[in-house]
Amino acid sequence: MDMCGWPQGGWIFVYCGPMYSGKTLRLVLDAAYYEHYAGYKVQVFKHGLDAERYSIDSLDSHTGIKHPAVAVYDSSQIRALIEPETRVIIIDEANFFDEGLPVLVRWLADEGRLVIVGGLDMDSFGTPFGPMPDLLAMADQVVKCHAACDFCGRPATYTWRRPNAPQDQVLVGGKSLFKAACRTCYRTQGQEKGKIS
Ligand SMILES: [Zn+2]
Repeated sequence: MDMCGWPQGGWIFVYCGPMYSGKTLRLVLDAAYYEHYAGYKVQVFKHGLDAERYSIDSLDSHTGIKHPAVAVYDSSQIRALIEPETRVIIIDEANFFDEGLPVLVRWLADEGRLVIVGGLDMDSFGTPFGPMPDLLAMADQVVKCHAACDFCGRPATYTWRRPNAPQDQVLVGGKSLFKAACRTCYRTQGQEKGKIS
């Protein structure tokens, strides 16, 4: 959590990185901080796809720490639900959203709000994921989160998919399907899948 540059004006903050890198945990902590300590009205959204994996009404970090959230399927739903007095908007799993999300995020920040976004910067093929490239380009502040490589323990920036898993870009699952991997293990564990080599 970092209040740099805010609340003097709008601010876009993006947490990115692979699975298991603590993005959702950071969003939960930020939500608690701005709501309970700073006293601002906070609205928290997550993508409905993630709600199929966890609960429909909360952001659930892998640590078990959670915060209430509203599950939606596209950016227009978020726009419709924003309340006038809301100062902080938190959006998780941004990678699953449509191309309207960066437009909405910029509009919310232009209105003077703090928008904190979390998402996978790359999918498990090593390709930039959904609207994340635009969000990262527009952000006032970016934190790239690292996981611990599930194969060797070094800092991990990739999400590795079990080679025999379904190959859809959008596939929701846990450690039985996805692991965090460092650059070396991503390339050497199982079949080579990366488009960036
Ligand atoms: Zn490794």
